Amino acid sequence: MSAPVASRVDARARVFGVLAETGAASRADLARRTQLAASTVSAVVTELQTAGLVTEPAAGGDPRPPGAMGRPPVLVAMHRNAGVAIGLDFGKRHVRVVVSDLAHGILAERHDELDADLPAAAAIAHAAGLVDEVLAEADADQDDVVGVGMGLPGPVHGPTGELGDSTILPGWVGVRAAEAMSDALGRAVEVENDANLGALSEWMWGAGRGAENMAYLKVATGIGAGLIIRARPYTGTSGTAGEIGHTVIDPSGPNCRCGNRGCLETVAGSAAILAALRGTFAADVTIADAIACAVDGHTGCARAIAAAGTAIGTAVATLCNLFNPERIVVGGDLAAAGPLLIEPLRDAMRRGAVRSAAEDVTVVEGTLGERAEVLGAVALVLRRGAELLHRSDAVAARRA
Ligand SMILES: [Zn+2]
Repeated sequence: MSAPVASRVDARARVFGVLAETGAASRADLARRTQLAASTVSAVVTELQTAGLVTEPAAGGDPRPPGAMGRPPVLVAMHRNAGVAIGLDFGKRHVRVVVSDLAHGILAERHDELDADLPAAAAIAHAAGLVDEVLAEADADQDDVVGVGMGLPGPVHGPTGELGDSTILPGWVGVRAAEAMSDALGRAVEVENDANLGALSEWMWGAGRGAENMAYLKVATGIGAGLIIRARPYTGTSGTAGEIGHTVIDPSGPNCRCGNRGCLETVAGSAAILAALRGTFAADVTIADAIACAVDGHTGCARAIAAAGTAIGTAVATLCNLFNPERIVVGGDLAAAGPLLIEPLRDAMRRGAVRSAAEDVTVVEGTLGERAEVLGAVALVLRRGAELLHRSDAVAARRA
């Protein structure tokens, strides 16, 4: 079945959308991904160039694998004048902000510690200040922003971005986070669960590249999973898909903040690991300290991290039985423990999953580290490329 002939306006939005999602692409790739005729793509690229939205050749070398024959394809990339995207990510004790151009280049970023119990309004005001800082550093202003994405730890309900009450941010429960941040920045903000954002960024730029079906595990104070199914993010009916941290591991275990007992988080989250090490260390030891000790050969720390890996692997086995992914990418603070966490996780997953699911899946450490979630917030914007075109047009007209 051939695709219906697209109007020129629609074709322009489709080409722009693919460019925003990929950062740069050859005309042949654009034709394949938009299903438009090569001649239409060429005409649209010329139009977008005239409008100052795209540029060629893109910076960077030959995108093909080493040894490819013939001349490299000429890449078309987003021009800096197409605007910028903002990503924000809140954790239990941090906020991160980045500004990116639409060619996927990070222009500036900030990272600050926050009090764990800070009310949402104060955290949002602080983040808004950081947005002003990164924009100034990037030589951009509010009018250059074409979209804002934001990550929060916990189940995010619908377009209001309201957090479910199992979040680890008590100051945010019941707050319509998307609206509150929109009010602070004066523009629309899209909110998503942070593990879902980690999945998106690792899949677009990191250890999940090329996977059709993958899960990203964020292992930190909370434990969450983000799912990519058939090369699309999957968040479920009300945004709670992947809440693996509340899988009950031990029905008679410790009470969990979600109201259940013995959830994975209560035995394998950072707080549980630090509680297991209490007595070995002073009270104010951090998870980073515990990981550093384990890497240095401290048996008690290594054992506590391995126990967490085993518990997580048991829950991941069920995840593998349910949706049969090809790759599991492990991120979050605890991923810095590397093989000390991932090997016991992998072993427990193999023991618990049906054999074919266990054979199909590889478990790897994420490559984007602590920036995975905030980069995912940028990715959230970049995937909305076709909807951003009219804003980019306005930015380019102003900056020309
Ligand atoms: Zn729970």
